[in-house]
Amino acid sequence: MTLPSRSNASTVADRLGEIVGDRHVLSRPSELLVYNSDALPGYRKQPRLAVFPGKRDEAIAVVRLLAEEGLPFVPRGAGTGLSGGALADDIIVIGLHRLKEIISLDIENRRATVEPGVVNLRLNKHIAPHGLLYAPDPSSEAACTIGGNVAENAGGPHCLKYGVTLNHVLAMTVVLPSGEVVELGSKFGEHDGYDLRGAFIGSEGCFGLALDITVKLTQRPQTVRTLLADFMSVDQAARVTSAIIASGIVPAALEFMDGPTIRVVEASIYAAGYPKDAEAVLLIELDGLEAGVSTDLEVVRQVCIEGGARNVRVARDDVERMKLWQGRKKAFGAMGRLASHLIVQDAVIPRTRLSDILATIHAISEKYGVLVCNVFHAGDGNLHPNIAYSADDPDESERVHKAMTEIVNACIDAGGSITGEHGVGLDKLGYMESIFSDTSLNAMCELRGVFDPDRRANPGKVVPIHSCKEWNAAASARGPARAREATPLSAEPARPSAR
Ligand SMILES: Cc1cc2nc3c(=O)[nH]c(=O)nc-3n(C[C@H](O)[C@H](O)[C@H](O)COP(=O)(O)OP(=O)(O)OC[C@H]3O[C@@H](n4cnc5c(N)ncnc54)[C@H](O)[C@@H]3O)c2cc1C
Repeated sequence: MTLPSRSNASTVADRLGEIVGDRHVLSRPSELLVYNSDALPGYRKQPRLAVFPGKRDEAIAVVRLLAEEGLPFVPRGAGTGLSGGALADDIIVIGLHRLKEIISLDIENRRATVEPGVVNLRLNKHIAPHGLLYAPDPSSEAACTIGGNVAENAGGPHCLKYGVTLNHVLAMTVVLPSGEVVELGSKFGEHDGYDLRGAFIGSEGCFGLALDITVKLTQRPQTVRTLLADFMSVDQAARVTSAIIASGIVPAALEFMDGPTIRVVEASIYAAGYPKDAEAVLLIELDGLEAGVSTDLEVVRQVCIEGGARNVRVARDDVERMKLWQGRKKAFGAMGRLASHLIVQDAVIPRTRLSDILATIHAISEKYGVLVCNVFHAGDGNLHPNIAYSADDPDESERVHKAMTEIVNACIDAGGSITGEHGVGLDKLGYMESIFSDTSLNAMCELRGVFDPDRRANPGKVVPIHSCKEWNAAASARGPARAREATPLSAEPARPSAR
């Protein structure tokens, strides 16, 4: 299997153009620049071609043509991924954002079938008048696609109570890299035999393209109450997080922002009215029936006060509630004020280790002279330590890389994991061997082989190449992976992504 030479690539482009229309195939390097990064701008890979099917049948025909030619490809949704998963290293990108139809809405059975390019928030706006919601709510919901959510098994603030994408996808039509079309799961929610739907969710584009996706819809809660508790110590806020869960209440969301995050949000257009002198805030949401929520609210307020909260504010109305959430959801964007590049980490720790790990992160940040902003899903123990930096400064880039590597290793040592929701992609490849045995990595390779025996879908991602008899066209993953170390940030400076 070889990559097409430049001249063959133009033949492939012509044939793709016959399927989708010439204007939906890009081949000039300048046009392809847009696709050489995802939302983690430290990595850049230039694709050879990009093709954008506008109909389901076109997507299938594109995959069949690439199968015929033996060519590798990378699926891409909105490119909001934070692990370099949608990057194509001199191979073909299949962009799915034009497949954006909400195919059907079944109110009686509370489910919807959508094309993969439907933006998460658009689905929610569409179903809101029926008193329904689609629960997985990544903070990127205004841009990311349901197809991308499936591929990453996306989470979000409200997944603490409602569960992640895996818990809300009933069935999918998938085009395998061979061009064969299969149905995974069941629209009625019953799964016979092995759960291949479950295996596909979180497969990061390595098992084929998710096309029509049937999701479960949830009744909107009768009452929603949002609290903001502020603390003069990170440690107190961390301990209160565990105390809330230990009280037996499972909030709909339990989010943490530290002092540096609060201050950068408050200096931005997303200012939410967080107290600027606080060292941490917890954004806590409770939902359900009015009677139960009122009781829980008093318990949570008490736990916060006993744990040292300086203030517990309850949003008076929806406007105030949305403002509090906007600050949280746009926090990564606000960090664009600090420097041209941002690295977003996604490690997981047992929730009860939160206090220790935040102290460790602080010590690491001082050791390397970098500013870490922590904003994360505290209830799930899913951390997002972020460092704004300039990729044009080699010394700073090196310090950031070392600091992030130490942070992730500290999370692993605390009994945690390397990704909660953003996926392995390229960024976490180097850590895979430190958390999985050879046997597990081999099993992953074999599972992948069931869906994609030729390893043509998103080659070189998720499992280190030398762990599988992996196809060697994935230049990005060639060479030995460095144990317990993130894939080094691109030497070539990248421009910040527009968020
Ligand atoms: C500001 C910000 C906040 C974020 N917050 C969250 C959060 O709270 N929770 C969370 O989980 N993530 C979050 N993310 C990460 C990201 O938005 C999610 O991973 C999202 O699911 C990616 O969707 P996308 O459409 O942008 O996919 P892309 O980035 O385009 O692709 C991601 C992966 O999915 C594959 N893929 C895309 N579409 C398909 C398809 N139809 N079939 C098969 N494979 C496909 C790609 O090959 C790639 O490997 C955040 C990102 C940003 C920038």
